[in-house]
Amino acid sequence: MVSLYIVPTPIGNLGDISARALEVLQQVDLIACEDTRHSGKLLSHFGIETRKTALHDHNERDRAQWIVEQLASGKSIALISDAGTPLISDPGYHLVNHVRQAGYRVVPLPGACAAITALSASGLPSDRFSFEGFLPSKEKARIDKLEMLKEDPRTLIFYESPHRIVYSLRAIAQVLGDDRQVVMAREVTKTFETFLTGTAAEVVAMVEADDNQQKGEIVLMCHGFALSDEEAIPAVAVATLKLLSEELP
Ligand code: SAM
Repeated sequence: MVSLYIVPTPIGNLGDISARALEVLQQVDLIACEDTRHSGKLLSHFGIETRKTALHDHNERDRAQWIVEQLASGKSIALISDAGTPLISDPGYHLVNHVRQAGYRVVPLPGACAAITALSASGLPSDRFSFEGFLPSKEKARIDKLEMLKEDPRTLIFYESPHRIVYSLRAIAQVLGDDRQVVMAREVTKTFETFLTGTAAEVVAMVEADDNQQKGEIVLMCHGFALSDEEAIPAVAVATLKLLSEELP
């Protein structure tokens, strides 16, 4: 059946590509790549010679219609991004939306995603989390965004670039508080994989003191907003305890 396949690729360790991903990339008629040259290296590493076409932020809307026409002519297509899962802070949303509206099947393959991989080893609560992509690059917008998230009880996950990491950590300490638990996962699945953990103030200090921590690819995670023990006890329970304590000898 003619389909658009959404195919994750490794975020560092080439061994993380799945057998099914390789099979699909081999068998489709066309691979839509965020960057054909970048993905060309990965594909030739695995001996895949499938025809490639570019689909990136700047041409995605125009390209989506052309891809629907390819599906209409009976061709199956795979979408890949430079690394990880397409659509996750990567192009593909408009394409998937357009292809679905045109009535064609969209088949997702599971695979590498930096946010989920980092969260799984962070030690932060993973029952509820909010993926926030990249924080804004402008300081005022960055602070405003953090102000909106300040009282969110879920674990917060951000992508960050190495040249902005110090500014973002400082903003997190300023808005979410010096004491907020932070985990910085760097170069996940790669040779220099590092997890820095501590309060926001401690992680800022570690990163400022070591230039090596300002290199590579980074996922930043923050513990969600937590009420103090006192605030967390419901008022009715406090009242009951008070009554009980009055009755006790
Ligand atoms: N689609 C990708 C995914 O599924 O994770 C994310 C693409 S986004 C353009 C790139 C960002 O993901 C990087 O700036 C970094 O924040 C994060 N990232 C990607 N690979 C990573 C890695 N190996 N270690 C830590 N963060 C990574």
